[in-house]
Amino acid sequence: MPPEHPGPNWRALLRAIGRNRTPCQLVIQFTDHCNADCRQCGMRRSHSFPRSRLSLDRIKGLIDQAAASGIQVLSFTGGEPLLFMDDLTAAIHHASAAGIRYIRTGTNGFFLKNPQGPDFDHRVGRVIEALAGTSLRNFWISIDSADPAVHEKNRGLPGVTAGMEKALDRFHQAGLYPSANVGLNRFIQGPHPLGMDNGGTYPSRQARAAFARDCRNALRAFYRRVIDLGFTMVNACYPMSLDAEESPSRPAGASGMNAVYEATSTDAMVDFTPLEKTILFQSLADVLPEFRPRIRVFSPRSSLRALVRSGSEWGSGAGRAAYPCRGGVDYFFIDAQKGRVFPCGYRGGEDLGSLVQAVRNPSVRLNCRRCEWECFRDPSEWLGPLLELKTAPWRLIRRWRKDPDDFKTWWEDWRYARAAGFFNGRRPPEHRRLAKWAPTGLAADPA
Ligand code: SF4
Ligand code: SF4
Repeated sequence: MPPEHPGPNWRALLRAIGRNRTPCQLVIQFTDHCNADCRQCGMRRSHSFPRSRLSLDRIKGLIDQAAASGIQVLSFTGGEPLLFMDDLTAAIHHASAAGIRYIRTGTNGFFLKNPQGPDFDHRVGRVIEALAGTSLRNFWISIDSADPAVHEKNRGLPGVTAGMEKALDRFHQAGLYPSANVGLNRFIQGPHPLGMDNGGTYPSRQARAAFARDCRNALRAFYRRVIDLGFTMVNACYPMSLDAEESPSRPAGASGMNAVYEATSTDAMVDFTPLEKTILFQSLADVLPEFRPRIRVFSPRSSLRALVRSGSEWGSGAGRAAYPCRGGVDYFFIDAQKGRVFPCGYRGGEDLGSLVQAVRNPSVRLNCRRCEWECFRDPSEWLGPLLELKTAPWRLIRRWRKDPDDFKTWWEDWRYARAAGFFNGRRPPEHRRLAKWAPTGLAADPA
């Protein structure tokens, strides 16, 4: 049977909003095995800890529970999920047969390294054939830097950037349009780290402006590179650094975070101060309009705007400028070690027990804003006004009247998502519709 590549399920969205919920999302950490060296990640191969993977039977059982609970959005993350390709494709088939519509997974691209190798075409062909034959909707390939040498050294995957360039056309011909996933870090432009010249402090307005300009230029270099490589979609993962006492295998730190998802580290590469994050997010929001006409850019500017607004409150968990994260209420994470259900990958002290129970009767309070994990924060922010429209419409209208840009940015995100085909990774971009988003009157930064 040909794979199904559905558009948005408006009925399910409205039904969920009617119950004061958003469509539920589940992230299953397929495995924590990995074959890359990324210094920003606790699962890098040089980091020694007992590795795990969930058995296919266990994953199928979890998928059945997810489908029975009405979950429609399912991500398989790692580690490197493609290390276990047969299980991965079997799990995707199982999920689509169970009625789950939106299925995502991704890779570090290890099968794309050494593109001059005699087996390159065979390696790539096998991956494309396996994935394109499933109902996978979105497939991401991670990329850390506009500079191939920096990216490949960090990943320990020589030649992988040229491999992406060589393989992307073949993916597209097979009807799979991978997205470039950048984890925002200090090396997105190249070997010279962002913001390290003055030890990460910005005492003056000029210093902050200079850092913002550097961020914008670095982001531009990155987006230009992924367009040149042939990507048609791009997503930004916000930096996930935790304080040393909050990292995996340690007790919860001051903020109550206790990561079970080891895609975090204390490395300076992703360790931005709250002020730096505010500037970085604002820079991303500033730069995105330049690229929206050329590539489908997932990152919603309304979410970035909310993160910027709540910047001063990071770490306190008490921010009011952004909608609370739906982690533990509508969004859930399952770890590769034991297949336990958590509100997200960073609240490892809160084992929620049964998935069905957690989805049907959430016991978690809706008040967390302790990190910027975009998988959960972006949709929480994007769908927040729809929920508020139902529960407190006058409050929302008052707020939007007070800050019309807030409404404008949010509404633009929706219109752009429509022009971008709701980021369906099984359809090509409609360049004619994207081109209408060409910005006017943007001031260029000096080179
Ligand atoms: S970021 Fe991904 S590819 Fe890199 S070490 Fe971590 S799990 Fe592996
Ligand atoms: S903000 Fe969301 S993803 Fe982050 S710790 Fe809270 S529930 Fe988890």
